[in-house]
Amino acid sequence: MASPLIREWTGIQQFPPATQTTLIELLAQLKEKDVSELTILVMGKGGVGKSSTVNSIIGERAVTVSAFQSENPRPVMVSRLRSGFTFNIIDTPGLVEGGYVNDQALEMIKRFLLNKTIDVLLYVDRLDAYRVDNLDRQIVNAITDSFGKDIWRRGIVVLTHAQLSPPDGLGYDEFFSRRSEALLKVVGLGAKIKKIQDAIPVVLVENSGRCTKNDSDEKILPNGVAWIPNVVKTITEVVSNGSKSIFVDKKLIDGPNPNEKGKWFIPLIAAFQYFFIVGHYQNLIKKDIAAEKESSKS
Ligand code: GDP
Ligand code: MG
Repeated sequence: MASPLIREWTGIQQFPPATQTTLIELLAQLKEKDVSELTILVMGKGGVGKSSTVNSIIGERAVTVSAFQSENPRPVMVSRLRSGFTFNIIDTPGLVEGGYVNDQALEMIKRFLLNKTIDVLLYVDRLDAYRVDNLDRQIVNAITDSFGKDIWRRGIVVLTHAQLSPPDGLGYDEFFSRRSEALLKVVGLGAKIKKIQDAIPVVLVENSGRCTKNDSDEKILPNGVAWIPNVVKTITEVVSNGSKSIFVDKKLIDGPNPNEKGKWFIPLIAAFQYFFIVGHYQNLIKKDIAAEKESSKS
C-alpha cells in the first residue's frame, strides 16, 4: 500500500497560543514515553460529526464535512508531522444504513486498516440525542467483533454538539452525565467490560464555528472546559493506560471473530460426539437388525 503523504502539521498554528502551548506540551510528554507516532481511528454512525471532529483536532479542513450523506464515502487517513511526532487520524464512513450496520462499510474500513496500528479509538455520537437503542448496540458489537474487545481499552467516547442547552430545566452536567451513562452502558455490554464508567472516558466536542471562546480565545464548552486541549489530553492518557495498541493484521481481518479464539475445540467436540456417541448407537442398531434377522430365520 502506498504510504500516505505526511505533511507538516501547520494547522496547529490556527489554534490560539494557549491551545498550542498545551498541545505541544502533551506531544512532548508522549515523546518522553517513547511514543513518536499516534494513530487515531474515528468511528460511529453517519452525521454525528466524525469528520468535523477530525478537522477540529487537526485545525484544518482536511476531510469533507457534509450535512447529508456523501456519495462514495471511503476511509481517509490524515497524517501530520510536528517536531518528529507523527499524528495520524483516520476518518471513516458512517457505520449505519437503513437501520442496520453497513457490513460493506465495515469491511472496507477493515481492509483500509490492514497492517496499521490503532492506538486510540474515538467512538463518536451526539450529546443531544435522547435515547440509546438497538442500533447503538449493533454498532458497538460490530466494532468489538471486527477488532476484538481490547480495542475498547483504547476507546474514548466523543460527544459532539456539546454546546447544548439541556431541556426540562436539567443542568448541563446532569444532562451530560445521564447521556454518557446511557451510552456507556451499551458500550460496556458490547465491549464486555464490567466497570465501564471507570474504563472509558467520555469527552465533549463542539465543532461549530459559533462555539463560545474564553479570554485566551480558546473554544470552550458551557462548563468552561477548553475542549480541544481536553480531547488531546484524554488521548494521551488513554495511550498511557497500560493497555496495548491494536495491530490490524490479515488474521484479524479474515479470521474468525477475534473474541472467539478459544472456541477452536467446538468442532473437536462435534467430531468426538459423532465418532463415539453416534457410532455407539449405530452399532446397537446394527446388532438389533442382526438379532431381528436371526429371530426371523428361526
Ligand atoms: P459525519 O458524517 O459523522 O462525518 O458528520 P459530519 O462531520 O460530516 O457532520 C454532519 C453535520 O453535523 C454537518 O452539517 C456538521 O456541520 C454538523 N456538525 C458536526 N459536529 C457538530 C457540532 O459539534 N456542533 C454542531 N452544531 N454541528 C455539528
Ligand atoms: Mg464524515
